Amino acid sequence: MENTNEMTIIFDSRPVNEGLARVAVAAFCTQLNPTLEEVADLKTAVSEAVTNCIIHGYEGEVHKIELCCRLQGRELFVDVRDEGVGIPDVEKAMEPMFTTKPEKDRSGMGFTFMEAFMDEVSVESRVGMGTTVHMKKIIRR
Ligand code: ATP
Ligand code: MG
Repeated sequence: MENTNEMTIIFDSRPVNEGLARVAVAAFCTQLNPTLEEVADLKTAVSEAVTNCIIHGYEGEVHKIELCCRLQGRELFVDVRDEGVGIPDVEKAMEPMFTTKPEKDRSGMGFTFMEAFMDEVSVESRVGMGTTVHMKKIIRR
């Protein structure tokens, strides 16, 4: 199909790779000439999703995280996937200020930020199987 482009990267669930994921998505979307604000929004959303895989999905153990970016016209689709513990109640997990790790100084705002900075966010998860966060942003420019 014309006007499409795709990238997938797989990396270890180490905090150092949050920077890698942020830069990868930023580099991938430059072909659409995004504004600085759009790039900043994307980077924030991706790092929230990746942090969640590291901290919650894999609970600090090192396994693989997959980041898929796909462009279709001016729509950018970003999926962040782990094969970790999964989320028992996605609706509840996405509520502002809901966190299962209050003792670790989490504020429960990750999904809220993703929803604020992206045009669409949906979460697919199965307990014991893992979690995929699907996000979409229209690069308006
Ligand atoms: P913050 O992002 O503000 O540091 P948080 O990570 O707890 O805090 P959210 O990012 O909104 O807040 O996530 C809410 C809850 O959803 C988490 O506390 C966790 O229980 C669950 N969760 C999120 N992502 C995952 C994931 N990839 N795997 C398993 N559980 C997750
Ligand atoms: Mg979070």
